[in-house]
Amino acid sequence: MKKAYRDVEKCRICHSRRLFKFLDLGSMPIPNGFLERDKLKTSEQKFELACLFCEDCCLVQLSIVVNPALMFKNYVYIPSMAKVMMNNFGNLAFQIYKEFKLNKSSLVVDIGSNDGSLLTFFKNFEVKVLGIDPAKNLAKLAEMKGIPTEVKFFNARNAKQIVKKYGKADVITATNVIAHIDNLHQVFEGVASLLAKDGVFVTEFPYLVDLIKKNEFDTIYHEHLSYFSLKPWIKLISLYGFEIIGVQRLLIHGGSIRLIHRKKSRKSNKALNTVKYLLSVEENQGLYSTKALIDFARRIENLKVELMELLTDLKKKRKKIIGYGAAAKGNVLTNYFGIGTNILDYIVDSTPYKQGLFTPGVHIPVYGESRIAKDRPDYILILAWNFADEIIEKEREFKKNGGKFIIPIPKIKIV
Ligand SMILES: [Zn+2]
Repeated sequence: MKKAYRDVEKCRICHSRRLFKFLDLGSMPIPNGFLERDKLKTSEQKFELACLFCEDCCLVQLSIVVNPALMFKNYVYIPSMAKVMMNNFGNLAFQIYKEFKLNKSSLVVDIGSNDGSLLTFFKNFEVKVLGIDPAKNLAKLAEMKGIPTEVKFFNARNAKQIVKKYGKADVITATNVIAHIDNLHQVFEGVASLLAKDGVFVTEFPYLVDLIKKNEFDTIYHEHLSYFSLKPWIKLISLYGFEIIGVQRLLIHGGSIRLIHRKKSRKSNKALNTVKYLLSVEENQGLYSTKALIDFARRIENLKVELMELLTDLKKKRKKIIGYGAAAKGNVLTNYFGIGTNILDYIVDSTPYKQGLFTPGVHIPVYGESRIAKDRPDYILILAWNFADEIIEKEREFKKNGGKFIIPIPKIKIV
């Protein structure tokens, strides 16, 4: 793709053109595009952020695809910095290692391997590992940990080269990456050719059921092209001869799902009932029609009004408010709600490389957490609401001194 973005005209899974638009968050810069001070005056490229619902297969997807080179060549999200993520990876590696009886000759390939965080756990079990990731900066980090990494996007052609070089994979993992990928058919073609006959394909992604139920609109942004429920997912995997043999719901990223697949076989399948149950949950929630999605968009609109009333009221009372967590989701919320330095003096974040930079769009400065003790704000708006408990626990002193927390999602709560 040479252009900065393309419009989505056909469904990513079933190619239908019956796409219904909902939840238009307007235009905003890519939410991981933090800026240095001297770049603040140059104009940032903005992209539409809106969702489409496929009226044929029910896939929810973004209305445009931003050129992946703009987003992933120098990727900044590194999971090894988050303890919850690392625990989840450890648990995934252990589960797969045990359940599928891996050994020294097994090969595990991770698509979107980032800095090798997940594969490090497999490596500790002494299985062979290979990472695939387009970000050079991350591949370098992975190599330093002893994780061999191919710097490329995963597709059918690259999969064939990998088979030639390393042999077939007993396990292919893809955690929090499938939603980033435009051409899902290429991926499944690749997985189908790279996977050994009895191999398993394991993936994790945020689950649409949680996203809608818990009003997690700020997890919708340009990097995440698709928002899956099981119905369209099953349609996709069936095209490539796969079936689900394991399902687990996870708490990470506001509610995710872990799926284990194998090529369809006559062997018994313990996951059938769980899959059937989740399909009924999705249907009851209204995810197979536009109504639940229109309701969702309306709830987000109300949330915006409510939060902005609260914040402007506090500002009138001359309260000092700061934000906590300069993550992509916080940047979506502040940009969509129009929260700038008129409301938040700054945002604190523990990630060192973000400190000293400014958030995209609304240009709020980012500092380290130590600033809170010096500065004594009255309120902290927790933008990283998925870590709210940990943040409140960490900032006990602030609370003891009379400070209050505002948690915006799933609904506004003052602690
Ligand atoms: Zn579709």
